[in-house]
Amino acid sequence: MLVNSMNFTNGEELLRLCEKNNKTIYEVCIEREMEISGKSKEEILNRMRESLEIMKNAIKKSLTEDIKSVGGLIGGEAKKIRNRLASERPVCGYLMSKAISAAMGVLEVNASMGLIVAAPTAGSCGILPGAIITVGEEYGLSDEDMLNAIFTGSAIGIIITRNATVAGAEGGCQAETGAAAAMAAAGVVEMMGGTPRQAIHAAATTLKNIMGLICDPIAGLVEAPCQKRNAIGVANALISAEMALAGVESIVPFDEVVEAMYKVGKTLPMELRETALGGVAATCTGCNLTKKIFG
Ligand code: SF4
Repeated sequence: MLVNSMNFTNGEELLRLCEKNNKTIYEVCIEREMEISGKSKEEILNRMRESLEIMKNAIKKSLTEDIKSVGGLIGGEAKKIRNRLASERPVCGYLMSKAISAAMGVLEVNASMGLIVAAPTAGSCGILPGAIITVGEEYGLSDEDMLNAIFTGSAIGIIITRNATVAGAEGGCQAETGAAAAMAAAGVVEMMGGTPRQAIHAAATTLKNIMGLICDPIAGLVEAPCQKRNAIGVANALISAEMALAGVESIVPFDEVVEAMYKVGKTLPMELRETALGGVAATCTGCNLTKKIFG
């Protein structure tokens, strides 16, 4: 490792780099990317700007177009939640309901073969944009703030990928939507003025909240229960961010939570890891839908 390297392999190292250099997580993440790729800061920011645009467009598409997923299990749910938001009193409050709608909408776009950013995977693609863009819009933050928040989330994603997994097939839905939610929580914390330490605590809390969740997509398609798992993922991220910003810390450090999540994932039987042989995929309804879709 270079003497002044911004590379990190776990949460503790990331936090040390931030505190030693008086930098935010997103600053460390951008500098790490410059170091590894050899690209300029502007090149890296421009690439992430494209991702932010894709995320925004996916939310917009889900609210303005009629979407039907490939398997026909989902489509139009994001609009329903947005419509209710406009006409009724949202049970979760305006911001949370809007975030839920956005997260579900991006997943609809993915399930209909539309363009999304896998963040970190296609199955969990709604959570990061649902959280970052909704909070950014609701608090009048700039695109630059949202970009930075995505870099903060990326740092968390890098650590989980390196030390555990973000794949439902390997670690269950806790790994996939859990990682996305942890990334989103950390991003929201820094975007709202929280410290790197608070951001890492938010990520730890998020992963703990979802630990053990299995991966059981009906018919093996990333539609149901995936869309609702994105909704709960974005809610988890925002709740954990709120806790961290208020000074509520995770009792178990982030790195230990990541390790625990990986261990839990490895103990899940293969029926509960994206094979569609267990969980809701193996219910009567799940099996009937599979027959209907595939004949
Ligand atoms: S249930 Fe499986 S496929 Fe669906 S979002 Fe969760 S991890 Fe991904």
